[in-house]
Amino acid sequence: MNLILLGAPGAGKGTQATKISDRYGIVHISTGDIFRANIKNATEIGLLAKSYLDRGALVPDEVTIAIVKDRLTWDDAAKGFLLDGFPRNLAQAEALDGFAKIDGVVNINIDHALLLDRICGRRVCKECGESYHVSTLGGATVCSRCGGELYRRKDDNPETVASRLAVYNEQTAPLIDYYTKKGVILNFTGTEAPAEVLFDEIKTALDAFNK
Ligand code: ADP
Ligand code: ZN
Repeated sequence: MNLILLGAPGAGKGTQATKISDRYGIVHISTGDIFRANIKNATEIGLLAKSYLDRGALVPDEVTIAIVKDRLTWDDAAKGFLLDGFPRNLAQAEALDGFAKIDGVVNINIDHALLLDRICGRRVCKECGESYHVSTLGGATVCSRCGGELYRRKDDNPETVASRLAVYNEQTAPLIDYYTKKGVILNFTGTEAPAEVLFDEIKTALDAFNK
């Protein structure tokens, strides 16, 4: 099963992605995580990507598309994959059509006010990329999955968030229409309820779909 996870920054994509990839045994590929790992390791891609991530702008398509195209050729993607954060505009979606077959698009809609709270309270594991919200951490500073240190993403600040949301509205939201027309979209609404509640809905839809 080859899936795309679509939703605004803060919609809870990362949290749902971990759950979906665990349940269906498909690899979770997050372009944001790939860029952050490259920045941390100061690779050529990292040096190029840094200024875009810091501004909340999109890394140029040719770079991003080449990364994903290559990543999908790895052995672990043969059994299926979940793309998180890609595609993010029409050019990326059209390019993806040229090298992968997509079975479904999980689209998470969420209220604007909730997004801001989610992003501003988000803490991320340095090691495995899992996200948490401060309100549920009870003061914990390490990841409950792997023990990695939790940190606040540099782009999770009000100014950068505003650019990321603008980019989402202008460039990524049109993909909802793109995939609706292809008949592969599954729509969900994120709420204040625990992530498990939304995951149950996604699971029900994907189980029916995965038969
Ligand atoms: P979020 O969805 O919370 O904004 P991501 O981790 O998906 O976070 O992305 C963080 C940043 O990485 C983006 O703001 C952008 O700079 C870069 N990025 C991630 N995916 C893409 C992509 N498909 N195309 C271009 N840039 C990307
Ligand atoms: Zn972790």
